[in-house]
Amino acid sequence: MAKVESFQLDHTKVKAPYVRIAGTERNALGSTIQKYDLRLLQPNVDALPTAAVHTLEHLLATYLRDELTGIIDISPMGCRTGFYMIIWDEHDPADVAAALTKVLHKVLETEHVPAVSALECGNYKDHSLFSAQEYARIVLEAGISDDPFRD
Ligand code: ZN
Repeated sequence: MAKVESFQLDHTKVKAPYVRIAGTERNALGSTIQKYDLRLLQPNVDALPTAAVHTLEHLLATYLRDELTGIIDISPMGCRTGFYMIIWDEHDPADVAAALTKVLHKVLETEHVPAVSALECGNYKDHSLFSAQEYARIVLEAGISDDPFRD
């Protein structure tokens, strides 16, 4: 059976919110991509409601691309405790943590969610900017670390 990096992570040992490199891959031509674990909530303690995770997905898709170069994708985790980000080249976790912190501050300020229409989204009725902002506030108050195993 294939080994999946995120299944090897001891989810009882991590301390959210954090950012973590979940993998760095190089192909034969020398191109590098990284997979990042952007964990907003403590696993098995809390989870984002679907409307909040969906709205955060839309906001992170635009705001994080304004902060970091080379983002290929940002997708919600099925457990709804965070997001995975796939990005070209190697990035310092401290820079990613700083970018995510800046972006969540922008989430608090915004009154607009991008691409909330039947044309642009697969479930446009399931959004909550209110809930997204409440969770952004909780994450910012806790502080986003670049060390998931800190004391
Ligand atoms: Zn959508």
